Amino acid sequence: MAGRVYLIGAGPGAADLITVRGMRLLQQADAVLYDALVQPEMLEYCPQAVLIPVGKRCAKASTAQRFINKMLVDAARKYGRVVRLKGGDPMLFGRAQEELAALDEAGIGYEVVPGVTAALAASAGTGISLTSRGLARNVLFATARVGEGESGSDWVKPVLAADTAVLYMGVKQAAEIAAALLAGGMRPDTPLLVVENASLPGVREWPLTLAELPQAAGWNLAGPAILLLGEVYRARLALDERIRQTG
Ligand code: SAH
Repeated sequence: MAGRVYLIGAGPGAADLITVRGMRLLQQADAVLYDALVQPEMLEYCPQAVLIPVGKRCAKASTAQRFINKMLVDAARKYGRVVRLKGGDPMLFGRAQEELAALDEAGIGYEVVPGVTAALAASAGTGISLTSRGLARNVLFATARVGEGESGSDWVKPVLAADTAVLYMGVKQAAEIAAALLAGGMRPDTPLLVVENASLPGVREWPLTLAELPQAAGWNLAGPAILLLGEVYRARLALDERIRQTG
């Protein structure tokens, strides 16, 4: 059996933020390989499927990407209709290319179903438009994280140039990120928001200035968190400051 793989975006966490197409494919899946960021509630859509946890946090020790690729190919051959469920949108910061290449190489057909990426879910929760009129005309999705064996791309210049920037996987490196942006000339009072657990019941938002960002590195957050940065958040920061002073 050659099998077929559906690379599906699970969305940011909330079980009802998967697309209808994604949910239907889950309901028809023979096997589901899912990431650590996928919430257990979402797996209730596929009681018929064999569940295979993959991804870095599940196994505690990191499951190497090559191993995941192999599991995906093996699962397609063994089970037939396989869903590869990935957090957010599968084509953003999710190693989708490696998995699709492995499927190509094995001659296994696939389809990609988009999902709501963390940046958009976090933004929805803030109630602040990423492109507030008069303040921002562009949005950058970036990461400062460099994977093992990768050469570091320069993420600083595009962030400096962006009206609004969203940084994935950045909280643990908050101090380095702040230092690099300040060294690049970004103003220390540049407003930003750290959003943890976007779309989930435990969602939290912290307004900060760039100068204050390094403290975020020590927070030890349990959930995934993302950085939103830009002038659109200045009013929110000012409001927070006023509340702190009066309260
Ligand atoms: N493909 C995913 C991103 C995977 S990288 C997407 O499109 O969203 C993992 C990073 O995404 C995390 O380190 C965090 O920065 C961000 N992230 C994922 N889910 C999140 C959530 N619910 N709230 C905040 N950030 C989240």
